Amino acid sequence: MKTYDSIIIGGGILGLASGYELAKLGQKVLIIEKGYLASGSTGRCIGGIRQQFSTKGAIKLAMENVRIFKQMREEFRESIDWYQGGYLLLAHSEEKKKDYLNLIRIQRELGLKVEFIPIKEVLKLVPLLNPDGLLGAAYCPQDGQANPFLVIRGYAEEIKRFGSKILTHTKVVKISTNGNKVVSLLTDEGDKYFSPLIINAAGPWAKEIGELAGIELELEPECHEALVTEGIDQLFDPMVVDYRPRGCYFQQLFATGQIIGCYTPENPIKGTQSSSSFNFLKEMPKRLLNLMPRLSELKVFRQWTGWYTMTPDGNPVIGETKIKGFWVIGGASGHGFMFGPTLGKCLAELIIKGKSSLPLDEFLLDRKYKKKEALK
Ligand SMILES: Cc1cc2nc3c(=O)[nH]c(=O)nc-3n(C[C@H](O)[C@H](O)[C@H](O)COP(=O)(O)OP(=O)(O)OC[C@H]3O[C@@H](n4cnc5c(N)ncnc54)[C@H](O)[C@@H]3O)c2cc1C
Repeated sequence: MKTYDSIIIGGGILGLASGYELAKLGQKVLIIEKGYLASGSTGRCIGGIRQQFSTKGAIKLAMENVRIFKQMREEFRESIDWYQGGYLLLAHSEEKKKDYLNLIRIQRELGLKVEFIPIKEVLKLVPLLNPDGLLGAAYCPQDGQANPFLVIRGYAEEIKRFGSKILTHTKVVKISTNGNKVVSLLTDEGDKYFSPLIINAAGPWAKEIGELAGIELELEPECHEALVTEGIDQLFDPMVVDYRPRGCYFQQLFATGQIIGCYTPENPIKGTQSSSSFNFLKEMPKRLLNLMPRLSELKVFRQWTGWYTMTPDGNPVIGETKIKGFWVIGGASGHGFMFGPTLGKCLAELIIKGKSSLPLDEFLLDRKYKKKEALK
């Protein structure tokens, strides 16, 4: 069969979540992935899931994500290593504390259980934390973590159970239109697949896929490195975030006891190169040890490079392009794993029902790029 209700390009979280939701609503879906599932950004993320954002749309989306992640075990009948260990955003200056207090007010208005906790409480949660200069932290105990590979596997199994299809190690090389409508695509195997709906969920390569259909998308990949240590006894539950000078994040994986972390480089490195740097291997442990000096004996197990796909405002994009039937879902920066399930659900609702159950104004493809997400 070469004709599908919809074809999705990309086997990361956004492609799989969209495919699952469309299949659940009765569509026959084909997902095409050039590598293995999760071989793009998704398999390179550190699995953090938070709800502490700065705009109403993002907070609502994030709260719905947590609801979905929580019920994935039942939905997939398999563990996704979901663990609700919380997120702790450290404040080392009065300015940061004020920013967090302002954001907490907005977040609480929307029903999020989040508070600013004093150092004593922070140290109860993370006893090894260096308290030097610390004023407290924004803490949401209902944020969490999950294993991206298990989430992807869960989605993939369900998609197949619904009778839809996934092709891996198959690259989309051409998209054909008729007038202003999308009609088919061609793979590097020489196979042609037909559908009135083609969804570009190609993550860091979404701009290139747009170009195949003659569409210019404001999506740019940026390289971000990460590392993971050997496993140790559970020392702390929350993701620890330090914004000095830019975001540095780490958490202990509940399932393995490993510490996994990354930081946002001073100067963004554009592109999709995947080599790892010695600079990161020196700098990340330095930042980690600055916050938790007693981890100095810990061995780094592995490091790697992945990508954030950036829009001008750092928020995701979702919507139909100027070509009828050619949709895009992407640009999720460092939040695509956590936003994936809900964005996929919203995309399916937009396509099938014409409107989504959550407000999407901040994420629509045709929005004017204004304010940047403050908690990047
Ligand atoms: C170091 C690091 C840490 C991160 N930590 C977090 C975190 O804690 N929490 C969080 O929410 N997010 C995190 N992220 C961000 C997150 O990984 C991404 O936002 C998310 O994975 C994007 O998913 P995606 O489905 O859009 O893209 P991808 O996972 O990249 O999927 C796109 C897929 O499209 C495929 N593709 C591309 N071109 C073609 C083609 N021509 N034909 C067929 N297939 C094609 C690619 O192979 C790829 O697998 C992190 C990212 C990095 C790099």
